[in-house]
Formats: sequence, structure tokens, C-alpha cells
Amino acid sequence: MALEDIRVDVEKLQKEMEKIEDGSIKAVLSGILSVLRKVDVVLDELSDQISVIDEDLSEIEDSYRTDTEFMSMKCVHCGEEFFVAADDYQDGNEVICPNCGGVNIIRL
Ligand SMILES: [Zn+2]
Repeated sequence: MALEDIRVDVEKLQKEMEKIEDGSIKAVLSGILSVLRKVDVVLDELSDQISVIDEDLSEIEDSYRTDTEFMSMKCVHCGEEFFVAADDYQDGNEVICPNCGGVNIIRL
């Protein structure tokens, strides 16, 4: 349910409530409606914050995507398969195996 729908419902209830003649019931209902309006304001703020977080997340996602191109390679010493950032994966580069610590020289 969208926040707009909640707002419309609260307004409808407000109009219905105005028809009630019993003062104490009216007071209670009016209190409930004002609580609902406050909840609505809080939800509205939360929803704004969520969209900001959402935007931040997609920015992080985008930067992560461009930064994480990896090449797979196999250690000549222990056979362990591991990943090397594409930027480091260049002919003649020395890469340390994360498993055995052996030096692997990339040959393209
Ligand atoms: Zn190794």
C-alpha cells in the first residue's frame, strides 16, 4: 500500500469522525487519527531515507563492478586456483600465491 493511499484513508476516517456526536468517542478517534498522521510522516521520512540508501547502494554497486575484473590463474607450485585483478594480470608480473606464498610469473 502506497503512502498516498494511507493518507486518503486517514482523510476519509477524519470526515467520518466529524459526524460522530459523542464527545469522548470523538476525542479518542481524533487522537488515533493524529497518531496515524504522525506515523505517516515517519514512514514518509523513512521512505526518503531508503531511496537515498538505495541510490548509494547502486553507486557502490557500479563502482564495484568496474573495479572487480579478475583473471583466474593456477599456482605453478601448489596448483591452487586463485584470482588476480585484471590490472595486475600482465606479462612478466609476479603474483604471490595466496595458498603457498610461491611466486608465479604471468606469461601471456
Ligand atoms: Zn601456490
